[in-house]
Amino acid sequence: MYRADTHVHSTFSFDGKVKAEDLVLLALQKGLTFLSFTEHLDLCTQSFDDFLTMERAFSEEVSRLNLRYGDRIQIVKGLEFAEPHRYQKEFFAVEKMGFGYIIGAIHFIDGRSVALKQLLPDQKTYYAKRYYQELFSMVSFGHMDSVAHFDHIRRGIGEDLYQASEIEDIFKVMIRKDIALEINTSGIRRTKEGPFPKEEKYLLYRKLGGKKVTIGSDTHIESNFYQFVEETYQNLVVENLIPGVFSKRTFVKR
Ligand SMILES: [Zn+2]
Ligand SMILES: [Zn+2]
Repeated sequence: MYRADTHVHSTFSFDGKVKAEDLVLLALQKGLTFLSFTEHLDLCTQSFDDFLTMERAFSEEVSRLNLRYGDRIQIVKGLEFAEPHRYQKEFFAVEKMGFGYIIGAIHFIDGRSVALKQLLPDQKTYYAKRYYQELFSMVSFGHMDSVAHFDHIRRGIGEDLYQASEIEDIFKVMIRKDIALEINTSGIRRTKEGPFPKEEKYLLYRKLGGKKVTIGSDTHIESNFYQFVEETYQNLVVENLIPGVFSKRTFVKR
């Protein structure tokens, strides 16, 4: 059993609809022993000053929740940092703020949101290429614990366009830099074609020697929480999957 959700947004994220404490209660109901909040920091659209205000309140709330529920569940103050390689000064400032887990994500290409489908429909090949270039730059920068929704570009362009060699290059850097691969189950609900990344990419990661894998639901509303996580865990059929999260900051075992 995989009793963890490593990618969860509460109302501390601009698009999260459920309060942090309600998510903890939900996690307890489902028997989880580990929960990582990964609130958004999208400096492409969000000011760093706004983030600092949120960060303080978020930090206090996670401390309060750990005091209250910490005997039953470990609650981690985490962050989903978009394009950290483009905001290195801010990334290093954030690193000092006591986050237990930081995932890196590519949310924007040329200022257009992948998730909100702002990409131009007649340039799919271009965006797919740019997406993986950005991902390569991001992992080359390093410092993050895990890569969020690896082939999320599928959501933005509605297709799975990639070159195996570019994916392989990204995985090799991740393995060398000790960055985990997240299996993000939101791909199942958002594309109907399997998690981010799809299985073939995950298998390539494993073939190249990748061992650090986390699973997260990318929860924004209550019904997303822990959705497909256990099934995904069972489908992966691997011996070395880390149940929980592999973090440069906190290593948590079940
Ligand atoms: Zn994301
Ligand atoms: Zn997310």
